[in-house]
Amino acid sequence: MRWTERQLAMLREMGVPPFWPTEPVAAPAGVPVAAPAAASGPVAVAPSAFAAAPQEAPVAVRPQASAPPPRTPPAARPAAAPVTPARPGAEAPAQAGVAEAILGPRPTGVDSMDWPTLRDTVAGCQACGLCQSRTQTVFGTGHVQARWMLVGEAPGEQEDRQGEPFVGRAGQLLDRMLAAVGLTRSEAPPEQQVYIANVLKCRPPANRNPLPQEVAQCEPFLLRQMALVQPDLILAMGRFAVQSLLKTSEPIGKLRGRVHEVQGIPVVVTYHPAYLLRNPADKALVWDDLCRARELQVSRAAVRSGAHSGPM
Ligand code: URA
Repeated sequence: MRWTERQLAMLREMGVPPFWPTEPVAAPAGVPVAAPAAASGPVAVAPSAFAAAPQEAPVAVRPQASAPPPRTPPAARPAAAPVTPARPGAEAPAQAGVAEAILGPRPTGVDSMDWPTLRDTVAGCQACGLCQSRTQTVFGTGHVQARWMLVGEAPGEQEDRQGEPFVGRAGQLLDRMLAAVGLTRSEAPPEQQVYIANVLKCRPPANRNPLPQEVAQCEPFLLRQMALVQPDLILAMGRFAVQSLLKTSEPIGKLRGRVHEVQGIPVVVTYHPAYLLRNPADKALVWDDLCRARELQVSRAAVRSGAHSGPM
């Protein structure tokens, strides 16, 4: 395998040494070679010759219980749900067994809450058993009028400790990915600063996979965050985020490359940064997804400004 200048630029931005012959090859005719961080306009999506799509393992879908167990406060239930094996990574095959979540009362009125009320409600949430093992909830971070909203899976150990999403190793890679397309989680105007949230606001013990009922209990919070931010696009990262947002069991490999929609907001799907730490070759695919997302956002911004500049 040889690298195009564009791939090399992307790898540099992500802090990854090229892992095969570093000698660059010319980009295929008609494909502009962009320096990613500096580019400001629409970015050409990489040709399919760029890298082959990975063969994903088939994803086993855990069936939802048809009749959820009665919702009693977590304290009244056994101390902890059966803990399924540790989550080895975002794209690992789903577990075969189905553990049952401990459920508590779900807050009402979430869909009309403002930011402070939503944040306080998440902080006090006892809608599932994860409230028993969390250090703190991990609400979300970033610009509340961000043009890009990123959605991950669930807090890990570091996030649970610090109360902020994506602060571990995967988060550091995510920061470099964002920098590669001129974005940041740090304070900046809403065109540059992203908003980051997870499907689950509490860490699953021992990083096990989220249970379907936990996802369902937590979902109104994420939907309200999306409605309040109203981003131009959502970047859904990893199987859990993608499948729970899009209500599908299709693997990411089948969902990439087109734009989906949730609550009227375009959704671009991509692999999780934790997966990329284990599969660095797939960074080329994620780079394509980031370019696709940026193209989409630029065109949405153009439509918005065109709509505003017309006669009133
Ligand atoms: N992985 C996620 O999906 N979210 C985090 O916040 C951290 C790791």
